Amino acid sequence: MSGRVAIELVGVVKRYGAVTAVDGVDLAIDHGGFFAMLGPSGSGKTTTLRLIAGFEAPTSGTVHLDGVDVSRLAPHARDVNTVFQDYALFPHMSVQRNVEYGLMVKRVPRAERARRADEALESVRLAGYGARRPNELSGGQRQRVALARALVNRPRVLLLDEPLGALDLKLREEMQVELKAIQRDVGITFVVVTHDQDEALTMADRIAVFNDGRIEQVGTPAEIYERPATVFVAGFVGTSNLLDGAVAETVLGNGGLFTVRPEKLRMMRDDDVPAPGDVVVDGTIVSVVYLGSDTRFHVDIDAGAQLVVTQQNVATSSMEALERRGQRVRLAFHRSHVLALRANNEQATGGGSR
Ligand code: ADP
Ligand code: MG
Repeated sequence: MSGRVAIELVGVVKRYGAVTAVDGVDLAIDHGGFFAMLGPSGSGKTTTLRLIAGFEAPTSGTVHLDGVDVSRLAPHARDVNTVFQDYALFPHMSVQRNVEYGLMVKRVPRAERARRADEALESVRLAGYGARRPNELSGGQRQRVALARALVNRPRVLLLDEPLGALDLKLREEMQVELKAIQRDVGITFVVVTHDQDEALTMADRIAVFNDGRIEQVGTPAEIYERPATVFVAGFVGTSNLLDGAVAETVLGNGGLFTVRPEKLRMMRDDDVPAPGDVVVDGTIVSVVYLGSDTRFHVDIDAGAQLVVTQQNVATSSMEALERRGQRVRLAFHRSHVLALRANNEQATGGGSR
């Protein structure tokens, strides 16, 4: 049997002429989990996935699957399968035939083909849909057929490039939960490329955040969200308030670079008393965005920065929230929720810097 690490990239660089798509990536992905490669468009996610699949060879560095250097092996010689965003199914074939297709090419006997296709369709919760044509299915169901078509080969690793990109938001959110459940059931290593931070946070056990051909941070969703390692990660994953230089000096007594999430800020009422360890800042509400379940306030603080505050609309109506524009406000947040991205000394935060 093989070890724990399914995929390892060592110093991988991929250049296309003058363009460096992947700029020195080191990465280890364990067996059995759901791994997301998250980053903005053009950050090198797809190229990294194609390097793992074998559709591209690295300019330098190596790709290992189960500890074996596969850098120069063709895709079919690697124990991985890829599901692309435009999961083109054969429209004239039944769902069953679409799923069986890969096995047919490999000359797997008919009875076994049928059995494995049934199994694959069941694992994506489409048992009984075998006789349908792709155009008789919803977008989400077609997506799952594409998944079944890859699962039927029983790869140890499944690579998915923006698998939910073609679906509308509501369906995409349903499929995020579904995809995660399917991965848990089949136990195969899933590596999913996405530019959508919510999608990565929802589905993944671990996330690598890509920026400009490099990985900025690898961690669990909670680590990435609560302990972003860089300014880029703090800004890309969720909304982040930055306190920098002179502003940080005034507010926190340290001229470094700090971040605090909008949901950690409280708008104090006149009779509220700050708790021990609270940082209090005064400012003016410059805009109010009513979002249904939440309201987002933009506050210009007197120290000279703009902070975003989100509040759940527990007892407030939209009118009450919107009327606060232009008003003075006092904000409070606990020091433990302040994260140091760069501190000038160690005393600045109450534990948020590790
Ligand atoms: P992502 O999937 O994160 O959007 P890609 O890996 O597709 O990013 O692309 C990373 C960079 O490499 C982009 O600047 C892109 O234009 C470039 N690139 C990708 N593939 C090629 C190619 N075949 N030829 C030239 N440039 C490419
Ligand atoms: Mg891409």
